[in-house]
Amino acid sequence: MACDNDAPGDGIRWKNYPALTQPSKSYRWLVVKCQLPDVTTIPAGLDQNISQFFGISGTGYGNIPDYFHDVSYNRASVISDTFLGWVQAPFKSPDLARNGRLASSVPGRQQRVQECLSALPADQLPDLDTFYGVVVVNNAVQDGGACYVGQQTLTVGNKNHQLACVWFDPNSLLTEFAAHEIAHGLGMTHSYDDSLRNCGGNPGEYCDPWDIMSAQGTFQFRDRNWLIGGFASGAGPGLNAPGLMNMGWIPADNQRRFQFEGDDNQTFKLRALSRPRGTEPLVVLLAIGTDTPFDEIYTVEYRQGDGWDLGFVTDPRAPAAVVASGGAVFVHQWRPVGTPTSTLINGSFAGALQPCDTLVLHNGARYVTVDEFNVADGSATISIGFGRGKFKYCFRPSDRIKHDKRAVGSRLPAESDGLKEQSDRPLRVLPPRTSAPDKGPPLPPGVGQPG
Ligand SMILES: [Zn+2]
Repeated sequence: MACDNDAPGDGIRWKNYPALTQPSKSYRWLVVKCQLPDVTTIPAGLDQNISQFFGISGTGYGNIPDYFHDVSYNRASVISDTFLGWVQAPFKSPDLARNGRLASSVPGRQQRVQECLSALPADQLPDLDTFYGVVVVNNAVQDGGACYVGQQTLTVGNKNHQLACVWFDPNSLLTEFAAHEIAHGLGMTHSYDDSLRNCGGNPGEYCDPWDIMSAQGTFQFRDRNWLIGGFASGAGPGLNAPGLMNMGWIPADNQRRFQFEGDDNQTFKLRALSRPRGTEPLVVLLAIGTDTPFDEIYTVEYRQGDGWDLGFVTDPRAPAAVVASGGAVFVHQWRPVGTPTSTLINGSFAGALQPCDTLVLHNGARYVTVDEFNVADGSATISIGFGRGKFKYCFRPSDRIKHDKRAVGSRLPAESDGLKEQSDRPLRVLPPRTSAPDKGPPLPPGVGQPG
């Protein structure tokens, strides 16, 4: 095998999610490298890192185009094919430092991007209207982030353009951070939970640690391809179902609706968002049906600790129950119109539902029960019904874990492992664990920060 000297970092290949659709929307980003005149050095390897992180040369290593290919199931092409610079900035590092002329995130980042682009000679400036957005990377570690949400008016050389806009520094090129900022550029907003806690923003904002739109308090995996100062960076997680629905990234064929009329429940087998397959369901939509349009719509999704969600089972801060079972079911309130788009319903389970857990919505209007996970298959079976749920036979994975530990401690022969004994054990009757969404206990420490 040829030596792959040009691969990013440790050169670990990334396994893309299966495509569910043909690419139908192109988000082409212009990347401009802008040098501060008082910072003479360009960090070693930064040029190659930039082109691989945003461009075709780094696909297959978990770069930005890979991230959005996967989470959009190939609907969105988010990629850079044009890299310009280094252009000299018409400002210096004190302008970006505390109280500097361009220090603020809003409107400072936008002003920096406008000034760097305007510094390019006119004959080197491509037709900006052929791009979706602009990323400017500078050569000094000071600040990174989106200028605003979506496309807005960017003024370059006295001409206005509708463009998305992101400012990055040399330490911004890691997916847990950059994918969040690029997603702002694509029009996405922060995710919330229903706790009203302070996770770094408004009450509840950044409080969904299972969604990249809650920024840096999320559960991430270590990525050895995109290095920061020679060290592994944080990567993932993916996007939750409300964010994907708003972007139109879950095909209609992969959506299901709870429309059951009887007095029993309706069962769904959900694919993990990281394990799409054919037209099998990725999300179940649940409308409570109040008088207010778009007010009480919930999404039910299954997330498994693989792909961009690998950090759910590898992040040291991830809840032990999720690490043990391999995944979790999440229920969000989704607002197709209005804000916030996405509110994680915590219930009694810190939002992460495990087999045998029942979440009661809207004071008993509906319930969602997790029946089982099949990690090898990448799927979870859930039941939805009216009311608060019923008593049912259930075997918790956490019971098996406890049993395994006891077996190891008592030095039983290897063939008496917990899995084998599990099949011999009778199932136990457990009362349903129910809770109202407005009475959640504190989440595990997954505190978000503005990004
Ligand atoms: Zn943000």
